[in-house]
Amino acid sequence: MVGAATEPGVSALLTAEDGAPVALENADAGSRILLVCEHASRRLPRRMGTLGLSAEALESHIAWDPGALAVCQLLAASLDAMLIYQRFSRLVYDCNRPPDSPGAMPAVSEIFDIPGNAALSAAERLARTEAIYSPFRKGLSDLIKTRVANRRPPVIVTMHSFTPVWHGRPREVEVGILHDSDSRLADAFLADAAEDDAFVTRRNAPYGPQDGVTHTLIEHGIHNGLLNVMIEIRNDLIASKDGQRVLAGYIGDHLGKALMRLEP
Ligand SMILES: [Zn+2]
Repeated sequence: MVGAATEPGVSALLTAEDGAPVALENADAGSRILLVCEHASRRLPRRMGTLGLSAEALESHIAWDPGALAVCQLLAASLDAMLIYQRFSRLVYDCNRPPDSPGAMPAVSEIFDIPGNAALSAAERLARTEAIYSPFRKGLSDLIKTRVANRRPPVIVTMHSFTPVWHGRPREVEVGILHDSDSRLADAFLADAAEDDAFVTRRNAPYGPQDGVTHTLIEHGIHNGLLNVMIEIRNDLIASKDGQRVLAGYIGDHLGKALMRLEP
């Protein structure tokens, strides 16, 4: 690869200034919960410019999940949990999609065309996959392997946020509890949250496995036989620090109790 930097985790796409694609916090955490945030950041690698997008688009939900990382960090502290997240925008590579998915490097997202993602060559797709997705996938897989080898199989919790208005339609759901074929943790969370009317919490909403959003759950949770759930928060609720604290409290409370229901 011409011009490739030599630092670990830094590739032809990423420069040393960009830094590594994957960040890990609280690696020695005591609980079994492993928080995953694939859409934590709206950062673009310097070499990619703006992908032809306006500043407004680059700050919007198409680039990242606003508020999700902040909630993850609060949960990592309150639950004594590990946290792994992607440091670059989903517009470069959406780490909750496999490389063969059109959504991995979308040319269109909601109402925005993404010029820098139109007509990518196979080589460009491969470069992004190797720079952004592969290290994230390996980082997460290695964490899981180490914990399993130490007889402390992790519980996979992926954290996301979604836009309150999609194609002009408001969404009523406030918290989505998503699962694929293994619904154990989602069922336990929903059973615990059923008595709590603080938020409108729904199963597999505002979208679900049929929309291709459960890639991480399948690959890292289900294939390893680990408890897993994907939690989606409507992003207007976590735009402020107060909101982030309230939602982290709500999710941490029901997640902790859900795990007690499953493994008292
Ligand atoms: Zn997301």
